[in-house]
Amino acid sequence: MITISAPLLEGNEIKAIGDVLKSGRPTQGPIVEEFEEAFALFIGTEYAIAVNSGTAALHVALLAAGIGEGDEVITTPFSFIATGNAILLCGARPVFVDIDENTFNINPHIIEQKITPRTRALLVVHLFGQPCEMDKITQICQRHRLILIEDACQAHGAEYQDKKTGSFGIGCFSFYPTKNMTTGEGGMITTDDKELADKARMIRNRGQKERYFHEILGYNYRMADIAAALGICQLKKLPEFNRKKIEHAEFLIREISHIEGLMPPFVAPDVKHVFHQFTIRVTEDFGISRDELKEKLKKREVMTEIYYPLPLHKQPLYQKLGYDDNLPLSEKAAQEVLSLPVHPGLEQEDLKVIVRALANV
Ligand SMILES: *Cc1c(COP(=O)(O)O)cnc(C)c1O
Repeated sequence: MITISAPLLEGNEIKAIGDVLKSGRPTQGPIVEEFEEAFALFIGTEYAIAVNSGTAALHVALLAAGIGEGDEVITTPFSFIATGNAILLCGARPVFVDIDENTFNINPHIIEQKITPRTRALLVVHLFGQPCEMDKITQICQRHRLILIEDACQAHGAEYQDKKTGSFGIGCFSFYPTKNMTTGEGGMITTDDKELADKARMIRNRGQKERYFHEILGYNYRMADIAAALGICQLKKLPEFNRKKIEHAEFLIREISHIEGLMPPFVAPDVKHVFHQFTIRVTEDFGISRDELKEKLKKREVMTEIYYPLPLHKQPLYQKLGYDDNLPLSEKAAQEVLSLPVHPGLEQEDLKVIVRALANV
Protein backbone atom coordinates (compact mmCIF):
# COMPACT_ATOMS: atom_id res chain seq x y z
CA MET A 1 0.00 0.00 0.00
CA ILE A 2 1.34 3.44 -0.95
CA THR A 3 0.11 5.89 1.68
CA ILE A 4 -0.48 9.61 1.16
CA SER A 5 1.98 10.52 3.92
CA ALA A 6 4.41 8.72 6.23
CA PRO A 7 6.51 10.64 8.75
CA LEU A 8 10.13 9.47 8.98
CA LEU A 9 10.82 9.30 12.71
CA GLU A 10 13.25 6.52 13.40
CA GLY A 11 16.63 8.24 13.22
CA ASN A 12 18.29 10.28 15.97
CA GLU A 13 14.76 11.32 17.02
CA ILE A 14 14.57 8.34 19.38
CA LYS A 15 17.77 9.23 21.22
CA ALA A 16 16.86 12.94 21.39
CA ILE A 17 13.53 12.17 23.05
CA GLY A 18 15.21 9.64 25.35
CA ASP A 19 17.62 12.36 26.49
CA VAL A 20 14.71 14.65 27.40
CA LEU A 21 13.07 11.86 29.36
CA LYS A 22 16.31 11.19 31.23
CA SER A 23 16.54 14.89 32.13
CA GLY A 24 13.32 14.48 34.12
CA ARG A 25 11.89 17.64 32.56
CA PRO A 26 9.48 16.81 29.74
CA THR A 27 7.54 20.14 29.72
CA GLN A 28 8.44 23.48 28.07
CA GLY A 29 12.05 24.29 28.86
CA PRO A 30 15.49 24.74 27.28
CA ILE A 31 14.85 22.37 24.37
CA VAL A 32 11.84 24.42 23.25
CA GLU A 33 14.06 27.52 23.32
CA GLU A 34 16.71 25.76 21.26
CA PHE A 35 14.07 24.68 18.73
CA GLU A 36 12.67 28.22 18.52
CA GLU A 37 16.11 29.68 17.83
CA ALA A 38 16.86 27.09 15.15
CA PHE A 39 13.46 27.61 13.49
CA ALA A 40 13.77 31.42 13.48
CA LEU A 41 17.21 31.09 11.91
CA PHE A 42 15.85 28.73 9.24
CA ILE A 43 12.89 30.98 8.32
CA GLY A 44 14.93 34.17 8.56
CA THR A 45 12.98 35.98 11.28
CA GLU A 46 14.15 37.49 14.56
CA TYR A 47 11.76 35.47 16.71
CA ALA A 48 9.94 32.16 16.74
CA ILE A 49 7.41 31.14 19.40
CA ALA A 50 6.59 27.44 19.74
CA VAL A 51 3.05 26.33 20.58
CA ASN A 52 1.23 23.00 20.68
CA SER A 53 -0.55 23.07 17.29
CA GLY A 54 -0.88 24.99 14.05
CA THR A 55 -4.37 26.01 15.12
CA ALA A 56 -2.90 27.48 18.33
CA ALA A 57 -0.26 29.30 16.24
CA LEU A 58 -3.00 30.95 14.13
CA HIS A 59 -5.11 31.78 17.18
CA VAL A 60 -2.18 33.30 19.10
CA ALA A 61 -0.94 35.24 16.03
CA LEU A 62 -4.37 36.83 15.51
CA LEU A 63 -4.79 37.62 19.24
CA ALA A 64 -1.27 39.04 19.55
CA ALA A 65 -2.01 41.23 16.50
CA GLY A 66 -5.02 42.60 18.38
CA ILE A 67 -7.75 41.00 16.25
CA GLY A 68 -11.07 40.75 18.10
CA GLU A 69 -14.78 41.40 18.16
CA GLY A 70 -16.06 43.51 15.26
CA ASP A 71 -12.97 43.00 13.10
CA GLU A 72 -12.96 41.45 9.65
CA VAL A 73 -10.13 39.26 8.43
CA ILE A 74 -9.87 38.48 4.72
CA THR A 75 -8.89 34.92 3.90
CA THR A 76 -9.37 32.02 1.47
CA PRO A 77 -12.28 29.57 1.63
CA PHE A 78 -10.16 26.78 0.10
CA SER A 79 -8.13 25.66 3.09
CA PHE A 80 -8.16 23.47 6.17
CA ILE A 81 -10.91 24.45 8.61
CA ALA A 82 -8.42 25.80 11.19
CA THR A 83 -7.69 28.85 9.02
CA GLY A 84 -11.23 30.20 9.27
CA ASN A 85 -11.87 28.92 12.76
CA ALA A 86 -8.88 30.74 14.26
CA ILE A 87 -10.54 33.99 13.12
CA LEU A 88 -13.88 32.95 14.63
CA LEU A 89 -12.13 31.99 17.90
CA CYS A 90 -11.03 35.64 18.24
CA GLY A 91 -14.63 36.83 17.84
CA ALA A 92 -13.76 38.30 14.44
CA ARG A 93 -15.39 37.59 11.07
CA PRO A 94 -13.67 35.71 8.24
CA VAL A 95 -14.37 37.34 4.87
CA PHE A 96 -13.72 34.96 1.99
CA VAL A 97 -12.07 35.83 -1.32
CA ASP A 98 -12.08 33.25 -4.12
CA ILE A 99 -8.93 31.49 -5.33
CA ASP A 100 -6.70 31.62 -8.37
CA GLU A 101 -7.58 28.68 -10.58
CA ASN A 102 -3.96 27.65 -11.18
CA THR A 103 -2.36 27.96 -7.75
CA PHE A 104 -5.42 27.21 -5.54
CA ASN A 105 -4.28 30.22 -3.45
CA ILE A 106 -6.23 33.41 -2.71
CA ASN A 107 -6.54 35.58 -5.84
CA PRO A 108 -4.81 38.89 -5.04
CA HIS A 109 -6.58 40.69 -7.91
CA ILE A 110 -9.98 40.52 -6.20
CA ILE A 111 -8.95 41.06 -2.56
CA GLU A 112 -9.49 44.82 -2.57
CA GLN A 113 -13.18 44.45 -3.50
CA LYS A 114 -13.73 42.87 -0.08
CA ILE A 115 -11.92 45.46 2.04
CA THR A 116 -14.24 47.50 4.31
CA PRO A 117 -13.56 49.95 7.17
CA ARG A 118 -13.68 46.93 9.51
CA THR A 119 -10.97 44.96 7.70
CA ARG A 120 -7.95 44.63 9.98
CA ALA A 121 -5.91 41.76 8.60
CA LEU A 122 -5.23 39.56 5.60
CA LEU A 123 -4.67 35.87 6.41
CA VAL A 124 -3.21 34.12 3.38
CA VAL A 125 -2.59 30.37 3.08
CA HIS A 126 0.33 28.94 1.11
CA LEU A 127 -1.76 25.93 0.15
CA PHE A 128 -0.11 22.59 -0.63
CA GLY A 129 3.31 24.23 -0.17
CA GLN A 130 2.99 26.78 -2.98
CA PRO A 131 3.64 30.38 -1.87
CA CYS A 132 0.99 33.03 -2.54
CA GLU A 133 1.82 36.00 -4.79
CA MET A 134 3.57 37.86 -2.00
CA ASP A 135 4.55 40.98 -3.97
CA LYS A 136 0.88 41.81 -4.62
CA ILE A 137 -0.21 40.69 -1.14
CA THR A 138 2.34 42.85 0.71
CA GLN A 139 1.44 45.85 -1.48
CA ILE A 140 -2.25 45.48 -0.62
CA CYS A 141 -1.40 45.28 3.09
CA GLN A 142 0.73 48.42 2.89
CA ARG A 143 -1.86 50.34 0.86
CA HIS A 144 -4.70 49.54 3.28
CA ARG A 145 -2.66 49.26 6.52
CA LEU A 146 -3.63 45.65 7.05
CA ILE A 147 -1.81 43.18 9.28
CA LEU A 148 -0.40 40.32 7.21
CA ILE A 149 -0.65 36.81 8.65
CA GLU A 150 0.63 33.80 6.73
CA ASP A 151 -0.81 30.35 7.30
CA ALA A 152 2.36 28.48 6.36
CA CYS A 153 1.16 25.24 7.96
CA GLN A 154 1.86 23.46 4.66
CA ALA A 155 4.84 25.52 3.52
CA HIS A 156 7.90 24.90 5.73
CA GLY A 157 10.86 25.90 3.59
CA ALA A 158 8.83 27.20 0.63
CA GLU A 159 10.14 30.41 -0.93
CA TYR A 160 8.77 33.37 -2.84
CA GLN A 161 11.59 35.17 -4.71
CA ASP A 162 14.20 33.50 -2.49
CA LYS A 163 12.48 34.61 0.74
CA LYS A 164 10.90 31.98 2.99
CA THR A 165 7.18 31.84 3.60
CA GLY A 166 6.46 32.88 7.15
CA SER A 167 8.93 35.78 6.93
CA PHE A 168 6.70 38.24 5.03
CA GLY A 169 4.14 38.77 7.79
CA ILE A 170 3.38 36.88 10.99
CA GLY A 171 4.10 33.26 10.07
CA CYS A 172 2.12 30.30 11.43
CA PHE A 173 3.32 26.72 11.12
CA SER A 174 1.97 23.28 12.08
CA PHE A 175 4.05 20.20 12.95
CA TYR A 176 1.26 17.64 12.66
CA PRO A 177 2.64 14.28 11.35
CA THR A 178 1.29 14.78 7.80
CA LYS A 179 3.15 18.09 7.42
CA ASN A 180 6.58 18.73 5.92
CA MET A 181 8.14 18.08 9.35
CA THR A 182 6.63 16.95 12.63
CA THR A 183 6.78 17.22 16.41
CA GLY A 184 3.80 14.85 16.89
CA GLU A 185 1.51 17.79 17.57
CA GLY A 186 2.95 21.28 17.50
CA GLY A 187 3.10 24.71 15.93
CA MET A 188 5.25 27.83 15.58
CA ILE A 189 4.76 31.57 15.12
CA THR A 190 7.49 33.56 13.35
CA THR A 191 7.93 37.34 13.42
CA ASP A 192 10.45 40.20 13.42
CA ASP A 193 8.29 42.24 15.82
CA LYS A 194 9.59 42.01 19.40
CA GLU A 195 6.44 43.37 21.01
CA LEU A 196 4.28 40.89 19.13
CA ALA A 197 6.63 38.04 20.05
CA ASP A 198 6.46 38.99 23.74
CA LYS A 199 2.68 39.15 23.63
CA ALA A 200 2.47 35.79 21.84
CA ARG A 201 4.65 34.21 24.56
CA MET A 202 2.29 35.55 27.22
CA ILE A 203 -0.86 34.32 25.45
CA ARG A 204 0.75 30.91 25.06
CA ASN A 205 1.34 30.70 28.79
CA ARG A 206 -1.88 31.86 30.48
CA GLY A 207 -1.20 35.58 30.03
CA GLN A 208 1.72 35.59 32.42
CA LYS A 209 5.28 36.89 32.25
CA GLU A 210 5.98 36.18 35.87
CA ARG A 211 4.68 32.98 37.38
CA TYR A 212 1.16 33.35 38.88
CA PHE A 213 0.82 37.03 37.85
CA HIS A 214 -1.59 37.20 34.92
CA GLU A 215 -1.70 40.42 32.89
CA ILE A 216 -3.90 39.37 29.97
CA LEU A 217 -6.23 36.51 29.05
CA GLY A 218 -4.15 33.60 27.85
CA TYR A 219 -4.23 29.86 27.22
CA ASN A 220 -2.10 26.82 27.83
CA TYR A 221 -0.71 26.47 24.32
CA ARG A 222 2.82 25.48 25.38
CA MET A 223 4.96 23.00 23.48
CA ALA A 224 6.68 20.27 25.51
CA ASP A 225 10.46 19.69 25.41
CA ILE A 226 9.75 16.13 24.21
CA ALA A 227 8.08 17.55 21.11
CA ALA A 228 10.80 20.18 20.61
CA ALA A 229 13.51 17.48 20.69
CA LEU A 230 11.71 15.79 17.83
CA GLY A 231 11.37 19.14 16.06
CA ILE A 232 15.10 19.90 16.23
CA CYS A 233 15.90 16.57 14.54
CA GLN A 234 13.18 17.01 11.94
CA LEU A 235 14.19 20.59 11.10
CA LYS A 236 17.70 19.38 10.23
CA LYS A 237 16.15 16.89 7.81
CA LEU A 238 13.56 19.27 6.36
CA PRO A 239 15.70 20.44 3.39
CA GLU A 240 16.25 16.81 2.40
CA PHE A 241 12.55 15.94 2.88
CA ASN A 242 11.60 18.89 0.68
CA ARG A 243 14.24 18.04 -1.92
CA LYS A 244 12.85 14.52 -2.23
CA LYS A 245 9.24 15.71 -2.45
CA ILE A 246 10.15 18.17 -5.20
CA GLU A 247 12.01 15.42 -7.08
CA HIS A 248 9.01 13.08 -6.76
CA ALA A 249 6.65 15.83 -7.87
CA GLU A 250 8.78 16.67 -10.91
CA PHE A 251 8.82 13.01 -11.90
CA LEU A 252 5.03 12.71 -11.62
CA ILE A 253 4.48 15.96 -13.55
CA ARG A 254 6.67 14.63 -16.38
CA GLU A 255 4.97 11.26 -16.43
CA ILE A 256 1.30 12.25 -16.18
CA SER A 257 1.19 15.51 -18.18
CA HIS A 258 0.10 13.69 -21.33
CA ILE A 259 -2.88 11.96 -19.69
CA GLU A 260 -6.04 13.59 -20.97
CA GLY A 261 -8.23 15.06 -18.24
CA LEU A 262 -5.56 15.14 -15.53
CA MET A 263 -4.10 18.54 -14.76
CA PRO A 264 -0.79 18.33 -12.89
CA PRO A 265 0.00 21.03 -10.32
CA PHE A 266 0.96 24.44 -11.64
CA VAL A 267 4.21 25.85 -10.28
CA ALA A 268 4.37 29.64 -10.39
CA PRO A 269 7.59 31.27 -11.62
CA ASP A 270 9.76 32.79 -8.87
CA VAL A 271 8.62 30.28 -6.24
CA LYS A 272 9.97 27.24 -4.49
CA HIS A 273 6.92 24.98 -4.16
CA VAL A 274 7.65 22.33 -1.49
CA PHE A 275 4.75 20.02 -2.41
CA HIS A 276 3.28 19.39 1.00
CA GLN A 277 0.66 17.89 -1.28
CA PHE A 278 0.85 17.00 -4.96
CA THR A 279 -2.64 18.02 -6.03
CA ILE A 280 -4.01 17.36 -9.50
CA ARG A 281 -7.35 18.23 -11.03
CA VAL A 282 -9.47 15.48 -12.52
CA THR A 283 -11.54 17.21 -15.19
CA GLU A 284 -14.55 16.03 -17.20
CA ASP A 285 -12.26 14.98 -20.05
CA PHE A 286 -10.85 12.17 -17.93
CA GLY A 287 -13.95 10.08 -18.54
CA ILE A 288 -14.62 8.92 -14.98
CA SER A 289 -15.23 11.08 -11.96
CA ARG A 290 -12.63 12.13 -9.42
CA ASP A 291 -14.27 9.98 -6.76
CA GLU A 292 -14.28 6.92 -9.05
CA LEU A 293 -10.61 7.50 -9.85
CA LYS A 294 -9.86 7.64 -6.11
CA GLU A 295 -11.58 4.26 -5.61
CA LYS A 296 -9.83 2.66 -8.57
CA LEU A 297 -6.41 3.83 -7.37
CA LYS A 298 -7.16 2.44 -3.92
CA LYS A 299 -7.81 -0.98 -5.50
CA ARG A 300 -4.35 -0.66 -7.04
CA GLU A 301 -2.84 0.01 -3.61
CA VAL A 302 -2.39 3.75 -4.21
CA MET A 303 -3.96 5.86 -1.48
CA THR A 304 -5.01 9.37 -2.42
CA GLU A 305 -6.79 12.12 -0.51
CA ILE A 306 -9.17 14.98 -1.24
CA TYR A 307 -7.90 18.26 0.19
CA TYR A 308 -10.55 19.66 0.55
CA PRO A 309 -13.98 18.30 -0.36
CA LEU A 310 -15.92 21.28 1.01
CA PRO A 311 -14.78 24.94 1.05
CA LEU A 312 -15.06 26.76 4.36
CA HIS A 313 -18.08 28.90 3.45
CA LYS A 314 -20.03 25.71 2.61
CA GLN A 315 -19.21 23.94 5.90
CA PRO A 316 -22.25 23.38 8.15
CA LEU A 317 -20.73 25.64 10.83
CA TYR A 318 -20.38 28.54 8.38
CA GLN A 319 -23.80 27.93 6.85
CA LYS A 320 -25.27 28.24 10.35
CA LEU A 321 -23.39 31.52 10.74
CA GLY A 322 -25.20 32.79 7.64
CA TYR A 323 -22.48 32.57 5.00
CA ASP A 324 -24.05 32.47 1.54
CA ASP A 325 -21.08 33.51 -0.62
CA ASN A 326 -20.81 32.42 -4.20
CA LEU A 327 -17.16 31.47 -4.72
CA PRO A 328 -17.24 29.39 -7.89
CA LEU A 329 -13.55 28.61 -8.32
CA SER A 330 -13.19 27.27 -4.77
CA GLU A 331 -16.35 25.22 -5.19
CA LYS A 332 -15.12 23.82 -8.52
CA ALA A 333 -11.71 22.97 -7.07
CA ALA A 334 -13.37 21.06 -4.21
CA GLN A 335 -15.07 18.89 -6.85
CA GLU A 336 -11.94 18.25 -8.94
CA VAL A 337 -8.88 18.02 -6.69
CA LEU A 338 -7.08 14.81 -5.83
CA SER A 339 -3.78 14.62 -3.95
CA LEU A 340 -1.32 11.87 -4.88
CA PRO A 341 1.51 10.55 -2.67
CA VAL A 342 4.91 12.29 -3.03
CA HIS A 343 6.21 11.92 0.55
CA PRO A 344 9.96 11.51 1.08
CA GLY A 345 9.66 7.85 2.10
CA LEU A 346 8.64 6.79 -1.43
CA GLU A 347 10.99 4.83 -3.67
CA GLN A 348 11.29 5.26 -7.43
CA GLU A 349 9.36 1.99 -7.85
CA ASP A 350 6.42 3.41 -5.82
CA LEU A 351 6.27 6.40 -8.14
CA LYS A 352 6.19 4.11 -11.14
CA VAL A 353 3.33 2.15 -9.55
CA ILE A 354 1.39 5.43 -9.19
CA VAL A 355 2.02 6.40 -12.80
CA ARG A 356 1.08 2.95 -14.07
CA ALA A 357 -2.09 2.92 -11.99
CA LEU A 358 -3.13 6.30 -13.40
CA ALA A 359 -2.34 5.31 -16.96
CA ASN A 360 -4.23 2.00 -16.68
CA VAL A 361 -7.32 3.54 -15.12
C1 LIG B 1 -2.58 21.60 9.37
C2 LIG B 1 -3.10 22.94 9.08
C3 LIG B 1 -3.51 23.81 10.10
C4 LIG B 1 -3.65 23.42 11.55
O1 LIG B 1 -2.62 22.75 12.12
P1 LIG B 1 -2.85 21.76 13.37
O2 LIG B 1 -1.45 21.57 13.85
O3 LIG B 1 -3.47 20.52 12.84
O4 LIG B 1 -3.69 22.47 14.37
C5 LIG B 1 -3.91 25.08 9.74
N1 LIG B 1 -3.92 25.49 8.46
C6 LIG B 1 -3.54 24.68 7.46
C7 LIG B 1 -3.58 25.19 6.06
C8 LIG B 1 -3.14 23.37 7.72
O5 LIG B 1 -2.80 22.56 6.71
